[in-house]
Amino acid sequence: MRPGNLEGLIATDQESAPKTDKDLPFARQVLADVMDPEVPAVSVVDLGIVRDIGWQDGHIRVLITPTYSGCPATEAIEEAIRDALIAAGFVQAEVIQRLDPAWTTDWITDEGREKLRAYGISPPSGSASKRSLTSEPPVVLCPICNSDHTERVSEFGSTACKALYRCCDCLEPFDYFKCI
Ligand SMILES: [Zn+2]
Repeated sequence: MRPGNLEGLIATDQESAPKTDKDLPFARQVLADVMDPEVPAVSVVDLGIVRDIGWQDGHIRVLITPTYSGCPATEAIEEAIRDALIAAGFVQAEVIQRLDPAWTTDWITDEGREKLRAYGISPPSGSASKRSLTSEPPVVLCPICNSDHTERVSEFGSTACKALYRCCDCLEPFDYFKCI
């Protein structure tokens, strides 16, 4: 998996040189290309589930908060993160889950929301923290024609994290990334 020439170089560095923070932006770059297994349009960084990247005991350690606890994708995400870092030349990578505070859709970056829309998924509407104060249904915009004239077809879309909607104007069905 790992290129042999890189392996030698970085292994030496891991043994002798002190760890510096300059490798951390590179690690973040690597993670920006690790796509969410359920929504391949957005990366784990776009979703805001990468909480911290740091060094511990000579290896890189990534702190993640899964989007939904019990989401079957979580294990796949951990593995994808580890594999990507090791493929990028890090000798060892550890992924730690932190469930508190719980992830909310508010952590999805603006870039992530844009990518969701471009992929045909309506991003979460409004703020999760404000949403809990009201029981009003969210205004869900059609990702295709941007109409707010939409209706919910099913509470669950292609995955439990999404609901299935339909646009009443262009009549296209689409997934809405639920606000939590
Ligand atoms: Zn539409």
